[in-house]
Amino acid sequence: MLKERLKEYIDANVPIIYINSHDDLSVEKTLLQVTGRRIVWEWNRMDGLLNRKEIKKKEMIGIREPLNSGCTLEQLLERGVKEREFNRKVILLKDIAAYLEDAEIVALLKNACLRIEAGELDTVFIFISPILRIPKELEKYITVLHEGYLKEDEIRNEIQTFAEENAVGNVYSKTVEEMTTAFKGLSALEINTILSLAYSRDGGLTGSALGLVLEQKKQMIQKAGILEMLPIREGMEDIGGLDNLKTWIENKAKILKNMKQAKGFGVELPKGVLIAGVPGCGKSLNAKASAKLLGVPLLKLDMGRLMGKYVGESESNMRQAIALAEAISPCVLWVDELEKAFAGIGGNGGGAEVTTRLFGQFLTWMQEKDSPVFVVATANDIMKLPPELMRKGRFDEIFYVQLPNSAERKKIFEIHIRKRRGQDLADIDIQKLVHMTDGYSGADIEGVVKEGIESAFIKGKTSVSTEDLTTAIRSTYPLKEIMGDSIKKLEEEYKNRKFKSAS
Ligand code: ADP
Repeated sequence: MLKERLKEYIDANVPIIYINSHDDLSVEKTLLQVTGRRIVWEWNRMDGLLNRKEIKKKEMIGIREPLNSGCTLEQLLERGVKEREFNRKVILLKDIAAYLEDAEIVALLKNACLRIEAGELDTVFIFISPILRIPKELEKYITVLHEGYLKEDEIRNEIQTFAEENAVGNVYSKTVEEMTTAFKGLSALEINTILSLAYSRDGGLTGSALGLVLEQKKQMIQKAGILEMLPIREGMEDIGGLDNLKTWIENKAKILKNMKQAKGFGVELPKGVLIAGVPGCGKSLNAKASAKLLGVPLLKLDMGRLMGKYVGESESNMRQAIALAEAISPCVLWVDELEKAFAGIGGNGGGAEVTTRLFGQFLTWMQEKDSPVFVVATANDIMKLPPELMRKGRFDEIFYVQLPNSAERKKIFEIHIRKRRGQDLADIDIQKLVHMTDGYSGADIEGVVKEGIESAFIKGKTSVSTEDLTTAIRSTYPLKEIMGDSIKKLEEEYKNRKFKSAS
């Protein structure tokens, strides 16, 4: 936990402890508990220099006495070292990330760190910031601490403390348990905010607080900016064909939905699936439908967003993304266009090295993962994926998705017509459409249905006919024509590699 680690590092005279957190209030509270006799000085841009004293009352986080409201960070660092004002002090710097781009500030901090290392100065710098930015010059002096998410018993503790402090009265143990599960992934501050909101709204703590949690989690994910929580609409019934893949996912869902019993029986927790194949044939659809089938949140990991420009930033983002997914689990983590994410692995130069490290981090996590984060990775071009990814132990299974065969095209037509013009379905000659659409992808077929319906409407018709749809087919280029030979090559490659067919 943060508290113990922080105490350890302060006692060990680490020059700079960089706490990567959004929740500076709860981190501060923890910090003030472990600083012992040391005086805590805080500098921030708004207030200047403050003297922070710990006080005992629980609801207050510490006294904020202004020492020098006009003091700049440069002045502080200069004087603090020169006049030895920093001696026996903890110097708390908040929202420091922007200042770490300033060469002057970095040089002053480095000078202070050298003095600390030489034993001339007895000081610890604490940075608290949601952004992790480590200048090369300070790399060896900085120890990074990530604020871990609360464990179940800690969450339970927060709920009980809140109930006691606010004299909430009796809270059903079932409600406490439900809340504990729902609060996973939230910080102490966020949990307390939701509890206060629910309490002032309902006059007690009831199951209705749970509704606030999903909203809070969505916001938290948005704030972190690394994962995206997607709305869940499509289910397995919206996928035409791909029966092997669907059955496989349905079986894994039986395990994930009965995790306790399954584990007790000796079944291993599913890790996830890699779905490769031509675009527009239902890979993403499967990721979304898995979340619906499991009844859990759907998180999308966008590798492009992970890449940061500072040393360690990308790795820290990846760590944060994984921690967030694990904290929110059970969930589905969808990694889209996996091949793009890991392009350039093994190459030279800064960018490629970072990608290689990120890739390693992801593989290790997949290998060791024992949380109910079900990973659905999708890829259009398997040739660009490094072979390590395909080794056993990473994904439970790898499927390839081809262009739909005639039976599948029939189902796809039916799904999309039923969704929009169910009343016309019986009068449409689906078989004719199926014959005309060899080489069309699922997305092509959806496009044909949309176009046919639109043109019937524009013509002022009262229903959609087979002819409206055949006209739309004639004006659409099938994917097979657009992709040409590359489709054949891909399919041969999948067979060579012995991937399972999704159909
Ligand atoms: P990709 O394989 O590139 O991830 P998507 O799953 O995003 O393709 O498909 C794009 C759209 O095409 C879907 O939202 C869906 O409307 C339609 N589609 C593709 N395949 C199917 C299918 N097998 N059944 C029903 N609709 C499909």
